[in-house]
This record gives sequence, C-alpha cells and structure tokens, in this order.
Amino acid sequence: MSGIARKHRTVSLKKRGQALVRQLEEQDRRAAEERTRQMDELYGPKGEKGGRCNRTACQRPLKGSSNWSMRNFMVEGGRLYYCDPCAEDFTAWDKRSGDPIRCEIIEADRVDP
Ligand SMILES: [Zn+2]
Repeated sequence: MSGIARKHRTVSLKKRGQALVRQLEEQDRRAAEERTRQMDELYGPKGEKGGRCNRTACQRPLKGSSNWSMRNFMVEGGRLYYCDPCAEDFTAWDKRSGDPIRCEIIEADRVDP
C-alpha cells in the first residue's frame, strides 16, 4: 500500500470511529431521556415536592416522606426538594464547612416516620 493510500485508510478509519462514537453518544442520550421519562411517570419529577429527590445520585421518591427543600435561586420563590438522608448529608457538610444550612423543612412538608 502506498503512503497516500495508507494515510487515506487511516483518515477513513478515524472518521468511521468518530461517527460510531457520535452514534453511541446519541443512543446513550436517548436512553437517558427515556429513563428520565419513565422515572417522571412512575415517581414524579426530580426536585419537585412529592416527586423525586433533587440530588442526581439519589432521586429517591419523596411521596409519603418528608420533603426537605432548598431555595432555588434560578426561580423566584422556587424550591428544590430532597429526601431525609440527603438533607442530613447537606446539613452535615454545611455545618462542617461553616456555611449557612441550606436544607430546611417547611412543617407542612414534614412526614413523621
Ligand atoms: Zn436523596
């Protein structure tokens, strides 16, 4: 194979690889959207009262449990909701760092176990 043919083949393989990566990323994005849609349908939206805990790594359903909240500075008067264990974690981190406590419970949102 000539140098030019080899170079052409390498570029062609690289382009096919890049196209495959884009295709897989698109599949992942669609699968993630579908999971979110199903989670929203089953447990309610993430971060909303009675929906799912707003912490991405948690997303525990909040229905029937205390709904702790933080002010959502992106939305006037808005709040984002969290489960008991995540609220405890945030409060522990805030106390450790000396920052103001972010999670609070509005009495109407408290559910005793
Ligand atoms: Zn949580």
